[in-house]
Amino acid sequence: MTTEELIQYDREHIWHPYTSTIDPLPVYPVAGAEGVELILQDGRRLVDGMSSWWAAVHGYNHPVLNEAAGKQLEKMSHVMFGGITHQPAVELAEKLLGILPMELEKIFFADSGSVAVEVAMKMAIQYWQSQGKSGKYRFATIRSGYHGDTWHAMSVCDPVTGMHGIFAGSLQVQYFIPQPSVKFGEEWDEEAMTPLKDLLEEHADDIAALILEPVVQGAGGMYFYSPTFLVRAKELCEAYGVLLIFDEIATGFGRTGKLFAWEHAGVVPDIMCIGKALTGGYLTLSATLTTKQVADTICSGEAGCFMHGPTFMGNPLACAIASASVTLLLESDWKGKVDAIEAQLRRELEPARSFGNVQEVRVLGAIGVIEMKEPVNMAVLQRRFVEAGIWVRPFGKLVYLMPPFIIRPEQLSRLTEGVLKCIR
Ligand SMILES: *Cc1c(COP(=O)(O)O)cnc(C)c1O
Repeated sequence: MTTEELIQYDREHIWHPYTSTIDPLPVYPVAGAEGVELILQDGRRLVDGMSSWWAAVHGYNHPVLNEAAGKQLEKMSHVMFGGITHQPAVELAEKLLGILPMELEKIFFADSGSVAVEVAMKMAIQYWQSQGKSGKYRFATIRSGYHGDTWHAMSVCDPVTGMHGIFAGSLQVQYFIPQPSVKFGEEWDEEAMTPLKDLLEEHADDIAALILEPVVQGAGGMYFYSPTFLVRAKELCEAYGVLLIFDEIATGFGRTGKLFAWEHAGVVPDIMCIGKALTGGYLTLSATLTTKQVADTICSGEAGCFMHGPTFMGNPLACAIASASVTLLLESDWKGKVDAIEAQLRRELEPARSFGNVQEVRVLGAIGVIEMKEPVNMAVLQRRFVEAGIWVRPFGKLVYLMPPFIIRPEQLSRLTEGVLKCIR
């Protein structure tokens, strides 16, 4: 099949994320990927600024992860998790529990971030149901969040930029409070808690949990807010009898400058979701963690167990790669690298502040965001980025970089220079 034929077939038959079948956005055929570069079918190499949506923190085609995959393939790629356990799952669980808050002792493996969020929300509902409080089944969240594309996950995504309009009527109605008003690094203002306090005061009786992305909101707006919000939110949740769920699917594994974003505040949630960089970007895998108290309460209820069990739960191949990826991360100087990326992004994105079409520039950890005044023309801008030798995928008003941690300074400069040149 020639490249032309491949593109043509794709255009006629294959759905891409959030893409029209009538007028699909262009796609670029990638033949391979190595280090921080994507290799297009025509041989061009692009410096990757996306880490394949937060996932590929070690870059692509990593020898250590390749070896872990190969070794596991020789044993078994998959086996059901009902009535069976295996070394890759147990080893991974032990590693993860060792780096997550010690209160979170129970881990549920799931197959994608969205499913981990569904699992977290089901846990919260079952937790209250087990205590005879079946009226507590709604969720509270902050605006501009993103938690995935499945049903309940979608219901807590931002009601404006999310899919609420289209699915209104069939979607569970949740409680939304404004985005935390105090930004990361700004001085704390107690007023920022008023919306949450008012909401809980009025509706705690039917709220199972507050769910949010700690400190960094990802796909819903790339917004960074004060960790103090989490400290106060935890106090309010405890006072009003509402569980707290942290969705660390995007923020986990070093991206924000801490290994996990909860560490910015030192606040331990009742339930936590992880995913994306868990396998270093090799395979889809996620996990939902909770405390012994929440888990045991769920299982003491009428059902006698937690009601969920995906076919590919605890997939050995994904677990083996994840284990290798976590070890690789911990043994690397990830903190030094993320801090260096942060400093370089701050320095090199700074000039964009003076562009007439730029609203704001913000950087935290290995995340650099340029918020434009108007939504960008994705197809046009994307083509320019590719011509500049970089892979950057903007959405709405946001042009952002979150490169693999292994990126070298000159490669990162290529990204920042390319972005500045193209948006100007
Ligand atoms: C990407 C993401 C999800 C959904 O994960 P999928 O693997 O795409 O289902 C959920 N929450 C957050 C914060 C995310 O960034």
